[in-house]
Amino acid sequence: MRWSWQVAVVAGIPVRVHATFALLLVWIFGAHLAAGEGIPQAATGVGLILAIFACVVLHELGHALTARRYGVRTRDITLLPIGGVARLERIPERPSQEVAVALAGPAVNVVIALGLALALVLGAAPLHLTDAASLRGNFLAELLALNLFLAIFNLIPAFPMDGGRVLRALLATRIEYVRATQIAANVGQGIALLFGLLGLLANPMLLFIALFVFIGAGQEAAAVRMRSAFDGIPVARAMVREFRTLGPEEPVARAAELLLEGSQQDFPIVDDRAGPLGILTRSDLLTALASGDTARVVGEVARRDCGVAHPREMLEGVFQRMEASGCPAMPVVAEDGSVVGMVTLENVGEFAMVQAALGRGRARRPRVA
Ligand code: ZN
Repeated sequence: MRWSWQVAVVAGIPVRVHATFALLLVWIFGAHLAAGEGIPQAATGVGLILAIFACVVLHELGHALTARRYGVRTRDITLLPIGGVARLERIPERPSQEVAVALAGPAVNVVIALGLALALVLGAAPLHLTDAASLRGNFLAELLALNLFLAIFNLIPAFPMDGGRVLRALLATRIEYVRATQIAANVGQGIALLFGLLGLLANPMLLFIALFVFIGAGQEAAAVRMRSAFDGIPVARAMVREFRTLGPEEPVARAAELLLEGSQQDFPIVDDRAGPLGILTRSDLLTALASGDTARVVGEVARRDCGVAHPREMLEGVFQRMEASGCPAMPVVAEDGSVVGMVTLENVGEFAMVQAALGRGRARRPRVA
């Protein structure tokens, strides 16, 4: 996510904080001062926010570590003013596993709340949890209440809350996955509108939450539609078949000629004996040309870390590898080692658009965005 910085690595997972999070802390601090309170109270308010976000990190780790049990890795955890997002590399195979991963987060908050309740009851100055007056302003009691809120809020059965994942997984046992996602997303946007309305009438903070929920629900549905366009599609069906290759000893000037001749942007570098060596990307070619040394051989300039795809491999996995490596293209290599095609981000995107257009044609009704 742009505008976010890595602040820690927990259990091998990078934890990032979004820039707007700092705004939240400043706002809380200012709100306390504006209410006529002193610096200590304002600092305690900020401390409470930091403590609750530590609980959010634990919540996200609940998702991430449960997913790890099912062999799903987590790219990173990002903290936004509104909560956390754990980016799993994929969703678990079985719906029951998705339910377990989704419920693990709120379960962590319930456990924290129980722990805080015990600490309050058994602590040095024991408190009665039913005595609301004695709990007001108590740091641990407020943290407990916020953890309960996190657990309950996240169990709302709508995207992008965890409850939405549970709903989608349950629906997916009966109907098709994309449709299940769309329903959970529509419920999410309906609830967001309700929050927005309440926000206008009561609490402006709800408006903020409503906006987050509305955008999150739409994004989830769009991501699943994109993924479903690749679902079960082998590379051979989406690869470019007409393309030029270059030998490792050819000069970059020759690559520049080919670039100007046609629409091909990236060129596989193929050695007659050793097979595919890498990809000469357009940006690397332009950098090499800009340095003025047009006699330099392309084998030196080409990227070697892009890997290769196989014709019968599924497109989704190839697309993920390309996203991870930042390579705009990948040669497709047959069993005998010959380069039979090329996958580029551009043609994969076009393929997804064609699939989506075909899918819309089949459904024969306009999609509600
Ligand atoms: Zn969660």
